[in-house]
Amino acid sequence: MAMVTTVLYAVWHFNRRIPGLRLWTLSYLCGFLFSLVLMLREQMSEAVAVLLAQSLVGLMGYLCLLGARAYMGRERLWHGYGAGAIGLMVIASVYLTVVQPAFGVRFLMNSWGSAVFYLLTAGTLARGGPQTYPARYLLALAASAHALFLLLRPLVFGLGQALDPAADLILALPQLIVLESIVAMVLMAFGILILTNEFTTTALRHLAEVDPLTSVFNRRAFLTLLDKAISQARRNQTGLHVLVIDLDHFKRINDTWGHQCGDDVLRHFVGVATACLRNEDVLGRLGGEEFAIVLPGTDAQGAGAVAERLRALVVRQPMLAEHGPIALTVSVGVAPYLMGESSGAVLQRADQAMYRAKQLGRNQVYLQEAPDTASVG
Ligand code: GH3
Ligand code: MG
Ligand code: MG
Repeated sequence: MAMVTTVLYAVWHFNRRIPGLRLWTLSYLCGFLFSLVLMLREQMSEAVAVLLAQSLVGLMGYLCLLGARAYMGRERLWHGYGAGAIGLMVIASVYLTVVQPAFGVRFLMNSWGSAVFYLLTAGTLARGGPQTYPARYLLALAASAHALFLLLRPLVFGLGQALDPAADLILALPQLIVLESIVAMVLMAFGILILTNEFTTTALRHLAEVDPLTSVFNRRAFLTLLDKAISQARRNQTGLHVLVIDLDHFKRINDTWGHQCGDDVLRHFVGVATACLRNEDVLGRLGGEEFAIVLPGTDAQGAGAVAERLRALVVRQPMLAEHGPIALTVSVGVAPYLMGESSGAVLQRADQAMYRAKQLGRNQVYLQEAPDTASVG
């Protein structure tokens, strides 16, 4: 426990921005102190040993749960719950040691009490999908395996036999319990370390894929997702359309209201566009004031309708700046994906369609239908 605590402390020391690490380190510190109490229990009265041991074990589980909640960005818990639960367990443990000795009941209560903390930890972490966040699920698996063992161990060792009031807390517990604790604690520590790696990787991926101004995919990530959507469309023989959208006379907004206001308009546009899209549609910023959208599984009519809805919504929802509303329009080019062509080719045709919309007077949707062309809206 001392070794694992030291390793976690070092990792936390160099990665202070990773939420949860500090709490997990403290959880393992409690585990270490618990081990110390076990070793020194001959030097203290049984009541004191039970009091210290149960407080530390309870705190260890609770801090583990708090670490998971912090890592997952969940709101802070009111510590009254934790303090109440641990306090009740400790008082009951001391009562079942000093006043009405009943080792079996105490063992059952403490095992199940700890199990609840580890089950809650697992439930907190197992979110976001195992494909995207495998380390979260790995740690959740280790925590639930430990919880399962804690739930079953009173049954495994037979309540009746353990109810002997003279039973010594530790010597009566077969070595299996100690062994399981060691394995579970080491496994969970590995899980935490893998999780910190996942956190850093996710943060780096976010930096590489997301446009910092508007929080939509940048050009490179958008092209990768377009390629993926194209492969899927080929496999399923479904339609796919690409929209290229350019904000009209955006330079004027910058010139009139300033660059900062221009940035706000870009974010405002992203908000409006996102509201028009389904979950499977992908929005990206190609650069400057030019955006693109992939619409998987759509035909020309559907894509034209989305583009027209977006154009109309942008007109209807001007950005509300401090000095009043700023009117905005967009020119939208729509191109269908033609089987066999590359992502670059379809994007280029959508871009050409967008320029046609500009030529036709802006605030337009131009739908390019291969091989002929036709205009909508
Ligand atoms: P058009 O209708 O023909 O598209 O005219 P436009 O003014 O929108 O197009 P133009 O290409 O002349 O100007 C685009 C402007 O977008 C110029 C550039 O300064 C501005 N711009 C590019 N990126 C950003 C950005 O991140 N923030 C802000 N505020 N402005 C940007
Ligand atoms: Mg423009
Ligand atoms: Mg432009």
